[in-house]
Amino acid sequence: MSHDYLIKALSADGFVNICAIDSTKMVEEARRIHNASPTAAAALGRCLTAAAMMGSDLKGARSSVTLRIKGGGPIGTIICSCGEDGCPRGTVTDFSVDPPRKPSGKLDVGAAVGTDGYLEVIRDVGMREPYAGRVPLVSGEIAEDLTSYYFQSEQSPGVCGLGVLTQNGKVTCAGGYLIRLLPGTPDEVIDELEKCAPLFVPATELLSGGATPEDIISILLPGFDMKILEESRKPVEYRCTCSRDRVTKALVSLGKAELLKFAKECEAEPAEINCEFCDKRYVFQAPEIRELAENASRP
Ligand SMILES: [Zn+2]
Repeated sequence: MSHDYLIKALSADGFVNICAIDSTKMVEEARRIHNASPTAAAALGRCLTAAAMMGSDLKGARSSVTLRIKGGGPIGTIICSCGEDGCPRGTVTDFSVDPPRKPSGKLDVGAAVGTDGYLEVIRDVGMREPYAGRVPLVSGEIAEDLTSYYFQSEQSPGVCGLGVLTQNGKVTCAGGYLIRLLPGTPDEVIDELEKCAPLFVPATELLSGGATPEDIISILLPGFDMKILEESRKPVEYRCTCSRDRVTKALVSLGKAELLKFAKECEAEPAEINCEFCDKRYVFQAPEIRELAENASRP
């Protein structure tokens, strides 16, 4: 089976930039790892799909973008992170949340996420302090909230579409698009884009009908002379970056006193630390923790 991927295109005048993605397998993998309910899978999947597109804009191997959404709803906090490889990871507080579907039959992501809170985007370019921007949630449906973020926080306004379809508890289709305008885009280009707005149907509607990400670009922006940027094509997948080394570093940062206390607790049974993004289990024995305590620089 072919791989999920994302691709970008630029208008001939250079003002309009679009990214489109088929993230079906990535979101199904996230659902499987977290054993998520359909609504939780949709909420996380939309966020992962956005993170993949935003991550793919980054330059530099150590840079990352993190989306954090907290809307006061039963799902709790959604966190997704992605590097320049466009391969994200993420988690939510409660994966069992599954409110009744909307009268239209669609998953009610907004009810799970809530609207009393914020969406935060943290960009870390691996050098200076990370840059964080935050906007109040509009609907908790994530795509609308990201559109609002682009209008308020970034220099380039944008329109975001994200979708996840499930059937019998599994993700059958997921994808999205992100259209952005260069700062200083002339009004006539903006007018032309507004004329395309009725065409902005959910990406899943197009993908499930057999469209590719390239097709999505030409269907959404017919009035623009969009040039596909072949070099932007990236295969994407759910990818965790955890390792025993990273978990060890996190333990060491607790400091000597905390580690010694922890070692004592692990005397009878070794400590099990589960990665919140991929559920991988790391086991640490008491003597190993004591050794980390001896080498910790913090008291
Ligand atoms: Zn992990």
